[in-house]
Amino acid sequence: MTPIDLAATRFSAIFVVALVVSVFVRLWLARRQIAHVSAHRGAVPPVFAARIGLPSHQKAADYTVAKQRLGVVETIVDAIVLVALTLGGGLALVFGWTERIDVTPLWRDVLLLVAIAVAGAIVSLPFSWWQTFRIEERFGFNRTTMKLWLTDIVKGVLIAVVLGLPLIILALWLMRNAGAMWWLWVWLAWLAFQLLMLVLFPTVIAPLFNKFSPLPAGAARERIEQLLARCHFAARGLFVVDGSKRSGHGNAYFTGFGRARRVVFFDTLLARLAPEEVEAVLAHELGHFKLRHVAKRVAWSAVLSLVFLALLAWLATTPWFYAGLGVPPDAIDVAMTRPGVALALFMLALPVFTFVLSPISALYSRKHEFEADAFASQNASSIALTQALVKLYEDNAATLTPDPLHSAFYDSHPPAAMRIARLEALGAQVAPAPA
Ligand SMILES: [Zn+2]
Repeated sequence: MTPIDLAATRFSAIFVVALVVSVFVRLWLARRQIAHVSAHRGAVPPVFAARIGLPSHQKAADYTVAKQRLGVVETIVDAIVLVALTLGGGLALVFGWTERIDVTPLWRDVLLLVAIAVAGAIVSLPFSWWQTFRIEERFGFNRTTMKLWLTDIVKGVLIAVVLGLPLIILALWLMRNAGAMWWLWVWLAWLAFQLLMLVLFPTVIAPLFNKFSPLPAGAARERIEQLLARCHFAARGLFVVDGSKRSGHGNAYFTGFGRARRVVFFDTLLARLAPEEVEAVLAHELGHFKLRHVAKRVAWSAVLSLVFLALLAWLATTPWFYAGLGVPPDAIDVAMTRPGVALALFMLALPVFTFVLSPISALYSRKHEFEADAFASQNASSIALTQALVKLYEDNAATLTPDPLHSAFYDSHPPAAMRIARLEALGAQVAPAPA
């Protein structure tokens, strides 16, 4: 065995172990979640007994279990596809095909990445279909028609072609032409792209999928404007989005920055919540903004993407990286002249290794949720926020009894009982906001 073969075999082994561990942990957590939710299906937890009926609680349990089961199948299928593309030689095969196409090497790389993206979409579409037309439908959330679902896919592809493809072409061009420090240039291009998306998403992209209309005058709007003034938040507009076109789930969010900054409410949320509850939900969202949670997330993702690009730059020059992920020994020299190969392998393999970071990211997010709730209880009513949360949990059929380990590993939001207990404690400390 040459040193390269040895290093490649070691890397393959590490990759397989990491993949097996991540699949095992996912399946184990899913099994725990199903068991825990099923075991608590019979009775509403005491804290919620007065607020949520048994039928709603059981619907939430069944909905949670149905989603988990689909997740289990998806985890297994994704793992099989990943192995087929890497160690199974799938990517090497596509790479071989693109080598024989009579275009420039840059375009060969573009074709390779497009082929991998199409393969990924073909694998994930049946799951998306099942989620929407089987699970969401069965629980009464789905309002998407087949035609709307297909139109959304076509629009998504067009946006990927118009916005994503130029970025990929630029990145591949920089990888070839910007010298050893290409990763720094790609990172800068990536940051510029993110900024561009912050402006384009609310103003151009989201309106392609939904209708945004100004929030009508009334009690809710009045309270919201007072809240924004109280918190010194200048929004460029208050909008209602027709979320009900696709789903019965409700939400509120901030989007964009600078001149594109706006507050968006789902029509489903406004239809369900009283004005003071809408105000409390917005106060929570405002908390995320005022406490710089959004900026911190953006900064973290910028740092991580720089680290990953530097890692990719190093791996792209090591033969064992290619050999360890299924590129045949006689094709490695050519593969190393094709940055698209390294990029595709890296994007396929990375999630297997970053899976261990999920609980850290979830913990960080839950900390922010508690902080935003505390902000909301200072600037609006914690009682109204509690009422709103109970309604949203009920309407979204979110389980009130998640498995603690599953929740700690994945959940971006704290479990309902814990969140409401904290809000009630805060409500007892803080004088209620002026009505
Ligand atoms: Zn939040």
